[in-house]
Amino acid sequence: MSDNCVFCMIKVRDIPSEFIYEDDRLFVIHDINPVAPVHLLIIPTQHMTNLDEKAFSQEVILGHMLSVAKDMAALVGLSESGFRIVINQGLDSGQEVEHLHMHLLGGRRLSSM
Ligand code: AMP
Ligand code: ZN
Repeated sequence: MSDNCVFCMIKVRDIPSEFIYEDDRLFVIHDINPVAPVHLLIIPTQHMTNLDEKAFSQEVILGHMLSVAKDMAALVGLSESGFRIVINQGLDSGQEVEHLHMHLLGGRRLSSM
């Protein structure tokens, strides 16, 4: 738990949010400001700021996050139409919340990168 971290506060239910999925390593919520019809956030339970964490455990959680993101995409019906998974890191990406997370986006044609 990191003080003043919005995702840590959601995790302990200090900030209300609907949990789409939760296990012992991560949880999934709707983004409060969706940019696509489906916009979910996959968030590790353990606070880590970004991808700079050197621990082997980060490699493990990243794999689990991708796996759950794919399962969530199937759950909300995006398997056929497709989806995008994004991690923002640092200023140029526009990262707002300094607690590692993945965005799962879909439900409309997303602009090419
Ligand atoms: P990022 O720019 O990658 O750091 O994305 C952070 C995301 O968290 C943004 O898309 C915000 O809309 C979202 N967000 C911020 N506060 C909340 C909240 N209380 N509940 C759900 N999503 C949030
Ligand atoms: Zn946090």
